[in-house]
Amino acid sequence: MLKMKAACECCSAPLSLAGQAFICSYENTFCPACAEQFRQVCPTCQGNLVPRPSRRSSPTEVAKSGFKAKLEEILP
Ligand SMILES: [Zn+2]
Ligand SMILES: [Zn+2]
Repeated sequence: MLKMKAACECCSAPLSLAGQAFICSYENTFCPACAEQFRQVCPTCQGNLVPRPSRRSSPTEVAKSGFKAKLEEILP
């Protein structure tokens, strides 16, 4: 599962899960302002920065909606 980092790795601006953020293939995460400043190129790996898919519900909420029984077997 994609790691949803909660802050920009450049300026530490808070990033909400459903809000806009940019990531590279190594999951370096930046706020839209920094991504624009870097011209959509990751300063760490020189890879493309692309818009991060937003996540509207927590894994727990997803579990409740469909996979609850299965997850209850795995989770303590
Ligand atoms: Zn930033
Ligand atoms: Zn990178």
